[in-house]
Amino acid sequence: MENYFDIVIVGAGAVGCAIARELSKYKLQIAVLEKESDVAAGTSGRNSAVVHAGFNNKVGSLMAKLCVEGNLGFEKVCRELDIPYKKTGKLVVAFDEGDIKGIERLMDAGKKNGTPGLSYISGEEVKRLEPHVGGIGAMLSSNTAITNPFIYTVALAENACANGVKFYFNTEVRGITKRENRFRIRAGGRYYHSRYVINAAGLYSDKVSSLAGDKSYKIYPCRGQYYILDKRTSKYLSMPVYPVPRPGIGGLGVHLTPTIEGNILIGPSAEYIKTKCDYGVTKDVMNQLFKEAKELLPPISIRDTIRNYSGIRSKLVGPKVGGFGDFVIEESIIVPGLIQLIGIESPGLTSSIPISGMVRDIIGSKEDLIPKPEFISERRGIVEFRQLDAAEKDRLVRECPEYGEIVCRCEHITKKEIMDAIENPLGVKTLAGIKYRARAMMGRCQGGYCLTRIVEILTREYGVPVEEIMLRGNESKLFTGRVK
Ligand SMILES: Cc1cc2nc3c(=O)[nH]c(=O)nc-3n(C[C@H](O)[C@H](O)[C@H](O)COP(=O)(O)OP(=O)(O)OC[C@H]3O[C@@H](n4cnc5c(N)ncnc54)[C@H](O)[C@@H]3O)c2cc1C
Repeated sequence: MENYFDIVIVGAGAVGCAIARELSKYKLQIAVLEKESDVAAGTSGRNSAVVHAGFNNKVGSLMAKLCVEGNLGFEKVCRELDIPYKKTGKLVVAFDEGDIKGIERLMDAGKKNGTPGLSYISGEEVKRLEPHVGGIGAMLSSNTAITNPFIYTVALAENACANGVKFYFNTEVRGITKRENRFRIRAGGRYYHSRYVINAAGLYSDKVSSLAGDKSYKIYPCRGQYYILDKRTSKYLSMPVYPVPRPGIGGLGVHLTPTIEGNILIGPSAEYIKTKCDYGVTKDVMNQLFKEAKELLPPISIRDTIRNYSGIRSKLVGPKVGGFGDFVIEESIIVPGLIQLIGIESPGLTSSIPISGMVRDIIGSKEDLIPKPEFISERRGIVEFRQLDAAEKDRLVRECPEYGEIVCRCEHITKKEIMDAIENPLGVKTLAGIKYRARAMMGRCQGGYCLTRIVEILTREYGVPVEEIMLRGNESKLFTGRVK
C-alpha cells in the first residue's frame, strides 16, 4: 500500500509532535512515522522535565534564543493543551568563592541571552526558600518551571491528530529515495510519498539524514542516569536545585528536581556511551549520584528511592571536544526538501515550540501555507480524580460509577481514568501507554498491585486474550498463556 502526503515527519518526540501540531494549522496532508509504539519513547520521555530559562546556553547561540522564547511561551501552550505546568523557580547554589564567580558568569550570560527574572540571593535567603539546602549564596531564576514531558508530547500529538495529522507507530524509516521533487520513504513494510521530509529522529537523526543522502552529521550519545524518590520526600524541596555547572562534557551537574507529580529526581549524570539504545543504569554512577545529591539535600535517604531510569542526549560534539554544540535547524543543502533537526539536546523540550515555528517558516519560504479555518487549538486531557474536592468527586461518581473504583492504590487512579487512557485518540493500548497517560503503575509499588487489574480491564473490555497484552511494542509480550 502506498500513502501520499505533503509532509512526512520522522520521529514522534516532543520536537516531531510540536512540528506536527504547528503544521496542522495549514492545509497540508501530514504523516508522522515513529519506530516505537507510542510518542515520547525516545529522549522526550526521559529527561528532567525542566522548562529552562536560557542562562545556561552559549551567548548568541540558536539554543539560547529558542530556549528563552520557549520558556516565555510554555505556559500558554500548556493552558491550551491541558498540560501540567508549574512555575517553581530554580536555584543554582554556590558552595565556595569559585562558585560565586560561576554565578556571576551565568548572570552575565543570562542578561546577554535576554533571560528575565535572574537575581543573586544570599545564603540566608537560600535557607528561607529551601530550608534543607545548604550553600553560601545562589542565583534564583524565577522563570524556570517544571512540566510532564510525556503528557506534553501526548498533548501535542493528540491535538495534531485532531487536526488531521496521521500517526503511524511501529513504523521505522529504513529507506528514503528522492525522484522529481518527491521522496519515497520505506517504513514499516510500506511506502510513503511526500514533498518534504522533516528529520526529527533525535538520536538517530544522523542515520535518517544519511538514509536520505546527506552524510554530514554524526550524533554522539551521552547518557544521563536518574533516581526517582518517593513522594514523601516532596516536603524537602519546592524547586529545582542545581550546583554551579563546572566545565566538562556537557551536562548541568547532578541536580535535584521536584516533579510536577510530587516526586524528586536525582540526576542526571553525563557519560558518553557507545550505543544509542543502552538505557541501563550502572552501580558506580548511581552511587556517585546519590552521594552528590545528599550533599545538596542532606535529609534524603537511599530508602526513599523507588525507581531509576536513564535518558540519552543526542550530542553533536564528541567526548574529545566536550561541552554543548548548537541546534541545527535547516533545510539540507545536499538534499533539498529534507528539513534537518540535528543535535536537539537539552533544552530541546523547552525549545520545541519555537523550533516548530522555525520549521514552519522554512516550509513557508518555499510554499504558500494556507491557514485552515477549522483548526482546533485546544485539547483536554484526562480528568485527574485525585485532584478534585469531595463535592466534585461525589458528582463524578454519581455520573459515572467507574470513578468510584480505585485501580492504582498508590496514585489513586480510578477505573475511569484507565479507560480514558486506553481510549486515547492516538490508539495506543500498551501498558506503558496507559501508565504515562493515567499515572497508574507510577507509585511506590510500581504496578505491583494494579498491573494485573489493568490487564484484566484490557482483556475484558476489548475481548483480547492475555497473550496479546504488550508492555510497550510488539516485541514486549507479558504473558505466554494461562496457568489455571
Ligand atoms: C538526561 C537528559 C535530561 C534532559 N533534560 C531536559 C530538560 O530538563 N529540559 C529540556 O528542555 N530538555 C531536556 N533534555 C533534552 C530533551 O529531552 C530533548 O532535547 C528532546 O526531548 C528532544 O526531542 P526530539 O523529539 O528531538 O527527540 P526524541 O524524543 O528522541 O524523538 C525522536 C523520535 O524519533 C524516533 N525515531 C528515530 N529513528 C527513527 C526512524 N528511523 N524511523 C522512525 N522513527 C524514528 C525515535 O523513536 C524517537 O521517538 C534532556 C535530555 C536528556 C537526555
